[in-house]
Amino acid sequence: MKRIHTVAEMQAQSDAWRGAGLCVGLVPTMGFLHEGHLSLVDHSLEAADRTVVSIFVNPLQFGPKEDFAIYPRDMERDLDLLSRRGVDAVFHPQTVEFYPPDFSTLVEVEELTKGLCGPFRPGHFRGVTTVVTKLFTAVKPHLAVFGQKDYQQAAVIRRLVRDLNLDLRVEVAPTVREADGLAMSSRNILLSAEDRQRAPALYEALTMGQKKIEQGERDASQIIAAMRAHIERTLDASIDYISIAHPDTLEEVAHITGPVVIALAVRLSNVRLIDNIIAAPLSR
Ligand code: AMP
Repeated sequence: MKRIHTVAEMQAQSDAWRGAGLCVGLVPTMGFLHEGHLSLVDHSLEAADRTVVSIFVNPLQFGPKEDFAIYPRDMERDLDLLSRRGVDAVFHPQTVEFYPPDFSTLVEVEELTKGLCGPFRPGHFRGVTTVVTKLFTAVKPHLAVFGQKDYQQAAVIRRLVRDLNLDLRVEVAPTVREADGLAMSSRNILLSAEDRQRAPALYEALTMGQKKIEQGERDASQIIAAMRAHIERTLDASIDYISIAHPDTLEEVAHITGPVVIALAVRLSNVRLIDNIIAAPLSR
């Protein structure tokens, strides 16, 4: 497995693969890898001839009061996991090269970022779309794999690729969960033991919402109220939002007539967790 630190080296490697007619897959990550990340890696290993995993904790997507400094990191362990999985290259850009002091270009998707996490994390998606654009131009992938866990992020990146005619395919892989239902996340390790034990209440609330929709409940506010009650009963959490939204436009839906995404963001032990599930009324 190659370890690549500079954009020039990454581009040269990708050009060599492309010149040999090989399909290049990219899995962008912030490291501290878990089975969720590795499922995206497996997806790329299957779909592409060469797989690059990027590891970069992108300062641009963290707000000034967010957890950039304490975001968990373990490069040696990540490298070991990836080489054993059969990854061809790890791209680990240096912050000074990615963001020189006079860096002044931002990439922003204006729609899809106004709801859900958008208002709670000003500048976050702009940071994501900027770094992902840079990763795309460095790695030149034919295919990039993202997780459904970050549903809004995946939608925003699809729109970025479409709007800027970027010549690559975006694929979204399902959310991988712990045995108790909690969505895997690098941030789970920051939870207190008690919060970690109770955190499956988030997925329980999502599946409760999904079941209500399948059973015929059409009023989004009723469903959200029941989910909120379940979370507040179980956890000492501060809920940023629980939303039921159109799966493509991400606009909130009041009356449910078709498929929706139920998404939530909650702060537990000062850790912000997000999760989502797709739900649809059962046809009769
Ligand atoms: P991160 O390192 O958190 O930026 O995540 C990198 C990629 O892994 C993103 O595309 C995430 O959506 C995806 N990802 C994170 N957690 C999971 C999970 N539990 N299941 C599937 N994909 C995930």
